[in-house]
Parts: sequence; C-alpha cells; structure tokens
Amino acid sequence: MILNPLQNDRAAGVLVAMAAGDALGAGYEFGAPLPDGAEVTMKGGGPFGFAPSEWTDDTSMAIPIAQALLESSSAAGSGSPAVLTMIVRAWAAWATDAKDVGAQTSSVIAAARRLASAAGRDKVHAADFTAAAADFHSCTGRSAGNGSLMRTAPLALAYLDRDPASLMAEAAVVSALTHTDPDAQEACGLWCVAIRKAVLTGELDVRAGLPLLPPGRAAVWLKRIERAERSRPRDFEHNGWVVEALQGAWSAIHLAGLSTSGPAHLRASLEEAVRGGRDTDTVAAIAGGLLGAAHGYTAVPFEWRRSLHGWPGLHARDLMTLGMELARGDGRRDHVWPRAAHQDYSMWGRTDVLVKHPHDDGVWLGGVRSLARVAELGIDAVVSLCRLGVEDVPDVPSCDQATFWVVDSAEAGDNGQPGFVLREASAAVELFRSEGKTVLLHCVRAESRTPTVAALYGATVAGIDPLRALEDIRRVLPAAQPNRLFLKLLVKTNAGAPTAATNPT
Ligand SMILES: [Mg+2]
Repeated sequence: MILNPLQNDRAAGVLVAMAAGDALGAGYEFGAPLPDGAEVTMKGGGPFGFAPSEWTDDTSMAIPIAQALLESSSAAGSGSPAVLTMIVRAWAAWATDAKDVGAQTSSVIAAARRLASAAGRDKVHAADFTAAAADFHSCTGRSAGNGSLMRTAPLALAYLDRDPASLMAEAAVVSALTHTDPDAQEACGLWCVAIRKAVLTGELDVRAGLPLLPPGRAAVWLKRIERAERSRPRDFEHNGWVVEALQGAWSAIHLAGLSTSGPAHLRASLEEAVRGGRDTDTVAAIAGGLLGAAHGYTAVPFEWRRSLHGWPGLHARDLMTLGMELARGDGRRDHVWPRAAHQDYSMWGRTDVLVKHPHDDGVWLGGVRSLARVAELGIDAVVSLCRLGVEDVPDVPSCDQATFWVVDSAEAGDNGQPGFVLREASAAVELFRSEGKTVLLHCVRAESRTPTVAALYGATVAGIDPLRALEDIRRVLPAAQPNRLFLKLLVKTNAGAPTAATNPT
C-alpha cells in the first residue's frame, strides 16, 4: 500500500512504541502500583533480570509475526498455514532459552512439541499449536491470559489495505495458536482494528472493531471499554487476564489523553500504564502498539529509542524498518532506505560543509559528507537529521548515533511532529555533550535542519534567544536558511513556548 508521509511515520511507530512500553515496564513487572508522578525509567532488572532498555517476551513474540508476514507479503496470504508455521517455529526457537515465557504459552509450546514428535516430526506445525492451545482451553476451561494480545500489533500493519473484518478474523486465528478463549481472540481483533484505524487516520478509537463482533459480544466489550474510561490502570488488579490487560492499556491512554496530546500523550500514557503495577511490561506493550500507531515513530522519545534492544538481536531501527515494510506490503527491500547500506546524496551539490558551533566548540555542524571525517576529528557521537544507510556511520556505536525523522519542508503533512523532533535533536546534542562527547550535528547540506537545531541548542547553552543564536550560526554557516516552518518554531521558542515535553508541535 502506498502511504502518505504521516501514515508511514505512524506505521513505523507501532513496533517501536510497543517495544518501548515493553522495555519500560520490564523493570517493574509484578510490582505494586507506583504513586502518581513516580519516575519511570528504562532501568531493566525486574523478576527476569532484563538489561536496561531490553524488551521482553511481548516484543520477542511479536517480531516473528512481523517477520513471517513480511516474508509472505509478496507470496502467500497472511493466513496461510505456511505463514503460521513460520511464526510458531520462531516462537519454539525463542522459547528454548528465553528469560520469561508466559505460563500458558510455555505449556502450549511444550504440548505442541509433544504432538509433533508423536506424529514423527522433529519440527512443529501451526496445527500442533492450535490443537495444543484448544486442548489447554478444554482442560482448564480458561485460557484468557494476555499472551496473545501482547504480541498482536504487527498483524494490523499487514491489513491496512484490506477490510477490517478480515483483520478481525485473522487476529483470532493468530491468537488461537496459543490462546483459544473467545475473550483473547476478540481482544486481539479489537486491538488490531484500532491499530489499523490509527495508522490510517491518526485517530485513537478502541470502539472501531465493535460493529464487527456479534451484537451480544459487542455489548459486553462496550461495557468493558466504558469501565476502563472511568478507571485507572491500577484499578485492574488482574491484568494478567486479557480483558483487564486491555482495560489497563486503554485506561492509561484515555486518562493521559485528558491532559496531553501528541508525543507528550504517548509518553504520559506509557508511564501511567507502568505505574499501574503488576504485568507492567505487557500492559505498556499493548498500549504502546496503539499509541505508536496514532502518534508515530517521531513521537517516541530519543531516550527510549537510544538503547532499545532485545531478541533476536534487534534495535529500534530494525523495528522501525519492519513496521514500514509490513505496511508497504511489497516485502523486504535490501537496496532502499531504511535497509540499504548507504544513502546516495551525490546529486545534492555541496554536502561537505563543516564548521564548529559558535557557542560550543565540542559540536561540529556539517553536511552529510562530514561523516567521512568522524574518526579523523575525534567525533564520538552523531546527531543526524537526514536519512542514512545502515553503514553510513561506521565509527560510532549505535547508541551514540541519534537519528531524527525530519524533512526540510514547511508543508503540513510532510513532518509528523516537527517541533518535538527538532527539540529532541537539540536535547540529544545536549545529552551527548553532558557525557563528554564531541558531537557532529548534520543533515544533507546544513542549510535548514542543521541550523535550526543548532540555534535551539545554542540558545540553551548560551542563554540567548534562538533567533539571536541563529544569527551567530549564520556567521559560520552563511548559507543557513531554515524554512518558514522551522523559523516559526524558533520564533515560538523565542516567545517562551512550552518545552518539548508538553508541546508536541
Ligand atoms: Mg513480558
């Protein structure tokens, strides 16, 4: 499907925000609710000993869904047994040395392995999982853990150009690989339909899938949603149950939405979800999938993206790529951004400009060709405001490369969150400098994006207003000419506008 730039941003945000919520909650899993305003950080630890910024089983089980759907996007349909088998085999491989396989998922995987081996096969099929899950349900009478809802988000990205009813049906099939209970199947369907709508329109509408359920079930779910909107995440003490996990996630989103919007809403919702306690990583992962779909990749704070990682050895950029490719629906493309090794700027004229920031000689301002001089100049951290290939900054560790999506355009609809992103980029320069690093701040030709961020940063370090900082920057970068949207942003900041944390645009 061809997406406009904002839809593309939102598709890219689904898995990144989901993983960010997951990693944010990991250090608090099974803990009691936290007081209002308590600080929530990517501290890691928790009962399973995760590293800081490491995601857990929620994202690790979602990634195989995303990868299998991506591999099949130009071939078989997403619901084909071959795709489902690809998914369950990846889960089985992950579970062999995972830190935290959920109880229900773990027993379904073990039973599926037994079914395969009883049939003389050394590898599991999707049918083994579906049968094992159905058996678990009929033996226990309940199989409505939150383990299928937590991983369901990628499916929505593969259904942007198909009707929501087919998405609802497929979400039930993927849920039933481990979670047969109708509550689990319907929760996955409702959440996927909401994610699909959010990516396409930017709207947060958890009721979007209700008309696709039988009327009696729609009424049950409407009551549950209304209760979530009168409650807080901490009110759902049994959030290991899929229904309360959905209610906890939606109550966090709804409550935070009463006082925030845009990137601030994404952040406040995920923090609120984690403060709700107990299954914190899962409630925040569920909320994150929908929040990323509504607010986009550009709304996920850099400090959350910076070191985000997890099984199978992926980082935020990989999740951003997976989300975009899934949404586009034409498979994995190794030779175009964002998977390509290099981004070609050879037609862009003068890209080799490189000067020192007038207010801080530990910051270089440059064009994209300055990247070739990183090692020579002893640069330890790079803040990039243009697209780069995965091998374009070979000498700097990935956690010291901050990349921001911002197009040099004043048109509404070309940039997701331009004000937030530019301020985040300035804050990234500040952060790297506080760590004692020498920084290169660059875009393609250092004419619009770089001077804008440089002016925001200069205003902060020199204690002057951003327009005055821009004048100083023009003395070293005479071609500096921020576009009118960026200039407006500098003027707004000049007038004492709220900071990035509270002002999304
Ligand atoms: Mg988890």
